[in-house]
Amino acid sequence: MLAGTGPAGQVAMISVEEARARILDGIGPLEAVEVPLLEALGQTLAAEVRSSLDIPPLANTGMDGYAVRAADTAGATPATPRELRIAGYLAAGGLYEGSVGPGEAVRIMTGAPIPAGADAVVPFEETDEQEQGAPWREAARPRVRVDVEARPGANIRPAAEDVRSGEVVMRAGTVVGEPQVGVLASLGLARARVVRRPRVAILSTGDELVRPGEPLRPGAIYDANAFSLAAQVLASGGRPQILEVARDTEEALTERIHEGLAGADLLVTSAGVSRGDFDVVKEVLAREGEIGFWTVRMRPGKPLAFGSFRQRHAGGERRVPHLGLPGNPVSAMMTFELFGRAVLYTMLGRDDWERPRVRATASERIDNPDGRRVYARAVVARRARGGYLARLTGPQGSGLLTSMARANGYAICPEDRAAVEPGEECEVLLVGPLEEPEA
Ligand code: AMP
Ligand code: MG
Repeated sequence: MLAGTGPAGQVAMISVEEARARILDGIGPLEAVEVPLLEALGQTLAAEVRSSLDIPPLANTGMDGYAVRAADTAGATPATPRELRIAGYLAAGGLYEGSVGPGEAVRIMTGAPIPAGADAVVPFEETDEQEQGAPWREAARPRVRVDVEARPGANIRPAAEDVRSGEVVMRAGTVVGEPQVGVLASLGLARARVVRRPRVAILSTGDELVRPGEPLRPGAIYDANAFSLAAQVLASGGRPQILEVARDTEEALTERIHEGLAGADLLVTSAGVSRGDFDVVKEVLAREGEIGFWTVRMRPGKPLAFGSFRQRHAGGERRVPHLGLPGNPVSAMMTFELFGRAVLYTMLGRDDWERPRVRATASERIDNPDGRRVYARAVVARRARGGYLARLTGPQGSGLLTSMARANGYAICPEDRAAVEPGEECEVLLVGPLEEPEA
């Protein structure tokens, strides 16, 4: 079925937001799986995480020093020091058997549990430790001189200071970043329950395409889209599977698509959605599933298709969503950026797919001849005197893939403006690190 065509066969013109809302309408988080801790990086937790332990489990010392009774150091100064008897020593990982009595000290290393009886730690720097010289030997050092009064609790990290047993440490939906991996490890968890990563089948179509690594025949070009899109899928947390290039015949395309659908959560195709004579993608898509062809009010990347494919298998039928991107390499990447990324994030249980935005001064004119939203590839820098400057990467043709490679931002001319003039402010989506400020 062909959707999105009006009474006169006119293709509907919709905004970026409307296209995205329609696409995300049928998309939701995938099911939960348990993975080894490190593989959870970038995924969302499918369930809340509660701690079964206190962290730290016992009060311990934050400094190398002497565990003492604070009262024994009252009034200590370099001029009026106190002398304590060294009753023992303790490294991290050990437990002190006895108890620190009046007039006693236990030499203790960072992380070691505070011995019973002690209520403060005097760091080495506030004792005669340095004067005694290394290496320290228990037998040779019966006493320690304390030069500074210790307050009760000094240099002691209380039990459960970080996490309390029974506490919810992370909520479901938390994105696992580097610190979350560390926190899960500190809770003793070797695995995490997360929303599964989407598997994305990627299909390039076109008789002109040759795979990188193969010799280029006259009239042919290398297939850039399969790889730029696969890289975007990876960067968005998905698992790409690049299918063999489909030639521009219905049979080839139908076969490729059915191969690729096995196990896929999303099919991304590029090319074949414009009005070219040889674009058979449309026909096949309409026959094998449901597809809408949209004209999105944006530049680059006007034509877009979205629908679902019927995949028949032993147990019945499954529907795989399909995003049909334009063929021009910049348009393919830009439409993936605006639509595909949001789909993958949604499947991952994330809603933070929006890029950060800044307002920047455009240094060149951004032209908008036909009332679309223009995403101009730009190099964005923080200005020495405040604010941001956006310089265009050069010509903005949708075949110029190196313009994407140079850009760290997409400067926007809104649909209702004929241009952004040099020196005017515009909104910019930041997709890479900012450039150094210009002199
Ligand atoms: P089409 O949508 O098939 O009309 O393609 C539009 C333009 O994009 C044509 O110049 C194609 O050669 C080019 N193109 C299509 N697919 C790819 C691809 N996978 N890699 C690089 N360029 C492509
Ligand atoms: Mg083509």
